[in-house]
Amino acid sequence: MNFNIALIPGDGIGPEVTGAAIRVLDKLSKRFGHKINYKEVDAGGISIDKYGAPLTKEALEECKASDSVLLGAVGGPKWDNIPGIRPEQALLGLRGGMGLYANLRPVILFEELKQSSPLKDEIIKKGLDILIVRELTGGIYFGESGRNGDSAYDTEKYSRYEIERVIGKGIDAALLRNKKITLVDKANILESSRLWREVAREMLAEYPQITLDFMYVDNASMQLIRDPSQFDVIVTSNMFGDILSDEASMLTGSIGMLPSASLGDSKTGMYEPIHGSAPDIAGKNTANPLATILSAAMMFKFSFELEEEACAIESAVKNALSQGCRTGDIAESSHKISSTAEMTKAVCDNI
Ligand code: NAD
Repeated sequence: MNFNIALIPGDGIGPEVTGAAIRVLDKLSKRFGHKINYKEVDAGGISIDKYGAPLTKEALEECKASDSVLLGAVGGPKWDNIPGIRPEQALLGLRGGMGLYANLRPVILFEELKQSSPLKDEIIKKGLDILIVRELTGGIYFGESGRNGDSAYDTEKYSRYEIERVIGKGIDAALLRNKKITLVDKANILESSRLWREVAREMLAEYPQITLDFMYVDNASMQLIRDPSQFDVIVTSNMFGDILSDEASMLTGSIGMLPSASLGDSKTGMYEPIHGSAPDIAGKNTANPLATILSAAMMFKFSFELEEEACAIESAVKNALSQGCRTGDIAESSHKISSTAEMTKAVCDNI
């Protein structure tokens, strides 16, 4: 098959980790007989330097016209003090402009990396494989906000439509997994949370094979550490998802391992590692490329619906780890530390 991918290397380690993912995808295309065309698009700091804006209209149009977007990371100290402009605005522009309202973050601990997790062995041995589905374009981050003299306010507001479409993504995912959804909210206090519960109950009534339960966000943040094996799919609002997904990511040991997908109604999605541009290690050939490589696997699963290709990438990552290949962020004292390029080669060799 033929695919057109908009490639946004971005800033810092972005070009190194997207470069690694392309090498893996090239190997994958050879094995499966696909042709992938890349269109490089500027966004973030590099776009501010070239065009004075983090995301141009043309860049957004390129992304919308592609079959999917693969993004490295944006931002860095160079652009921290420009009044009114931040590289990260590119991400909001892409999510909003492409209608990507659901963010999917798998939280998986590879058996080979058990030692990197801060959790105790007896908790980890029960397993850690969670998918967090976070609403991405609504809620308090987008609601009305302002100041009145010495007071300030932000508004959490959700419509039934916004809730339905993100719960729909959670249902799609749960059907392919262990068929359990935990809706995380604050329904003891927030009216918007009570609407989420109402909509979830109505929608899940059509799926008796899926177990639905509810959990307050404060309890969920404890349960993630006490017994993460109780979760399968977590569906939650923008702000709660932002916080819980960062908490959950640390359970896996390194931010360099975790991919994500942002999805909307069309098949075109945006795939990116959850980490940032890591300016402290940029250009040193030491970044862990696995989060970006695993993001490319998610692209094959969710946008191209090619499960076998996605599994081939995931297995290649697993095999590279079993063979002892480790970048600095996931190495133990017994490991020889591999560079970005060496880790990429190890994954390619296992495709
Ligand atoms: P960061 O994720 O870039 O880095 C945090 C720490 O993790 C650093 O020590 C870094 O070296 C390490 N790290 C991150 N990715 C790694 C990898 N693949 N391999 C090995 N180590 C890795 O977060 P930060 O330092 O808070 O932010 C740096 C810049 O990135 C800021 O400008 C921030 O705004 C931006 N940012 C961008 C995104 C994005 O593009 N989606 C997300 C978060 C932060």
